[in-house]
Amino acid sequence: MITKNMRKAINEQINAELWSAYLYLSMSMDAEAKALRGIANWFFVQWMEEQDHARIFQNYLNGQGEKVELKAIDRVPLEWKDALEMFRDTLSHEKDVTAMIHNLMKMAMKEDDFETMSRLLWFVDEQVEEERSAEDLVKLLEAAGDDFSILNEIDGRLAGRKYNKASPLKQ
Ligand code: MG
Repeated sequence: MITKNMRKAINEQINAELWSAYLYLSMSMDAEAKALRGIANWFFVQWMEEQDHARIFQNYLNGQGEKVELKAIDRVPLEWKDALEMFRDTLSHEKDVTAMIHNLMKMAMKEDDFETMSRLLWFVDEQVEEERSAEDLVKLLEAAGDDFSILNEIDGRLAGRKYNKASPLKQ
């Protein structure tokens, strides 16, 4: 059994994950519009992964006998200056998400809610990866600067990113 407070907080997190999905879909579309097809693919995969995150929390609440209350998803930005700005925003957003996950963990610990703690551990690890990959891309794009051939190479590399269903959904 989870408390009403915990259920409410996880429900909020589902909305936040769906907002993240929407943000990355918007970045994917803007990258597509800028003819950065590989980067568009990278953000499209990110869009799918964020929907997985929402689904993991949804399954968790359902498993606890709770029903998810879907809320309105706030507007997202529609345009970025360039790829570097997209990845800087991604990194900054992922840092915010990390803080949200950590706050959920603090709440679960305070409530001696071991099941929620166990479920959250996957997200704690996932956030390390999310921040790392965004940070790597910020560094690469900063180094590339205005060099079109390097940018093109980075874009080509990101075209190879494939969607993998999140491991908690494979169980
Ligand atoms: Mg997420």
